[in-house]
Amino acid sequence: MLSDAEYLRYGRQLMLSEIGEAGQARLKEASVLIVGLGGLGSPLALYLAGAGVGTLWLADGDTVDSSNLPRQILFDADAVNHSKAELARERLAAHNPHVELIAINQRLDEQSLPAFVAEVDLVIDCCDNLASRYAINAACIGQGKPWISAAAVGWQGQLMVRTAPEHACYACLYPLDTRITESCQSSGVTGPLVGVMGALQALEALRLLLGKPSPVAGTLRRFDALTHEWQTLWLPSDPACSVCGGATPFANPMEDAQ
Ligand SMILES: [Zn+2]
Repeated sequence: MLSDAEYLRYGRQLMLSEIGEAGQARLKEASVLIVGLGGLGSPLALYLAGAGVGTLWLADGDTVDSSNLPRQILFDADAVNHSKAELARERLAAHNPHVELIAINQRLDEQSLPAFVAEVDLVIDCCDNLASRYAINAACIGQGKPWISAAAVGWQGQLMVRTAPEHACYACLYPLDTRITESCQSSGVTGPLVGVMGALQALEALRLLLGKPSPVAGTLRRFDALTHEWQTLWLPSDPACSVCGGATPFANPMEDAQ
């Protein structure tokens, strides 16, 4: 049941036939783990809290650096040296008091992730490092949970949505011995590009939480911000993948058959 205040707040999205009252109630019941509250996680968390996703778990072990401020729009200049997770919780609570927010002020790894993944319907990877991405991937596959992953370096953005065992996992795409040396620290990045990719993660998250299939699930979407071109690569899972090979059962309670 939605309160009067919630009807007023969410009025514009309630008008959409794909959402309506039933969809809004569904969002209110949903829980999402956001790993990384940087340039991707900032717009993502703001949009999910704004949309009324019931429970957001906010994980980041870092503090804010002044070099984060051009992209990480959750944070103001006086946030420098303070915990991203705690500040994000405060900012989002001020933005939408109808949402439950849990700050996780630690860098989640292989050991700590599974307990948090077990609590949520959907995991969103907004990390800035390969080790965390592999850990999220493995924890989600272990529990049959869907994930949405994005990255942005230089002028290139990419998005992956995995909702079924036949979709490539992160380790199918980048085998575990991959050495990716490119990072925002070494190659630079612009705020609007990570904003685009974070907003796309939010869009796909709302779609999945509403029980709608994602048209980009099972693909790698690449965006070149210099040429404004999109590329779509269909990525089936690799039967020889050491992480997802062997058809892990996939429980995706969110996606209606349609
Ligand atoms: Zn795989």
